[in-house]
Amino acid sequence: MIPETKDPGSRMGPETGNDATGRSRIGLAGYTVIPVWYGCNNDCVICMLAPVKGQLPAVDFDLFKKLVIRIVSGGRCRHLILSGAEVTTFPGLGRYVAFAAAFDYFETIQVQTNGRKLCDAAYLRGLIDAGVNEFFISIHGPREVHDAISRVPGSYDQTMQGIGNLRGYPVNLLTNTVLTRLNYGHVAALIEEIAGTKASEMHLWNFFPMEEGDSKDLIVSMKDLLAALAGVPSLLRSVDKPLVLKGFPECLPVSDPVLVDSDFPPTLIPDVFWKTLARSGFGACCHRDACTAKRCWGLSRAYIAKYGDERDILSPVG
Ligand code: SF4
Ligand code: SF4
Repeated sequence: MIPETKDPGSRMGPETGNDATGRSRIGLAGYTVIPVWYGCNNDCVICMLAPVKGQLPAVDFDLFKKLVIRIVSGGRCRHLILSGAEVTTFPGLGRYVAFAAAFDYFETIQVQTNGRKLCDAAYLRGLIDAGVNEFFISIHGPREVHDAISRVPGSYDQTMQGIGNLRGYPVNLLTNTVLTRLNYGHVAALIEEIAGTKASEMHLWNFFPMEEGDSKDLIVSMKDLLAALAGVPSLLRSVDKPLVLKGFPECLPVSDPVLVDSDFPPTLIPDVFWKTLARSGFGACCHRDACTAKRCWGLSRAYIAKYGDERDILSPVG
């Protein structure tokens, strides 16, 4: 079965290039994600795949080949992402990467990972030799916060060692942190730490409840988010690296190099994932009819139930 291709605003978009300030940026809408495996060596409290993992089949090599050939034949998307759950726990990853790289078609082959296995220098070298030239690594917070969220003691140190191991290679690094009430007070310190690594840009992704409510009490208010980001623009200006907010209202009052970008890559994953994500009810906004930001993620259903519609913080664009 060929999995469906969707994202909440599925479309081809700008590829890797420069933003309005001339800074080099990654345009994820120009990528395609193939999740190939649903095993993982972490057990994150925030895992959006947890409710559906058991219903998602791994992509075997024959199906993977068909998917890659379909992308290459389409001739539009030159940026490929291999993901999981945690794709580095998949024994066949190197073979899959090498197959895609052999077309000499993809400008980017990215691996989305929690980064722990990259602390093994030989393993990392094998992935890069196979054709991976970009890593998207999740970090949840400083050491104690990260390990409490991943529920694996020592995982932070492994991830940071993996990030350090990338330094010697001509590969790109992006990092991602999912914003929750478990880490929002540590965002500025974490971003400062990551800014000193090879990362070309850092992402802060909104938490996807994958349910109608917020049963784990993880959603952060916009007011707390804006307070957590105070001081971040000035520390990032000195290194000229952006912090990209994903899945947030586009009108949030943030300043360069902190920016909101609503684009996510189309993802080849079975429909049960999209149905579960839709339970979050993103896109709600009291100003929607008056606003031209048609792809904006707005607020989730659970957010509005918890904090209200934020009509005084949000303001229509255009
Ligand atoms: S590392 Fe990723 S896939 Fe694994 S439990 Fe954490 S969030 Fe889920
Ligand atoms: S007013 Fe609403 S729809 Fe417009 S950018 Fe803000 S959150 Fe998005």
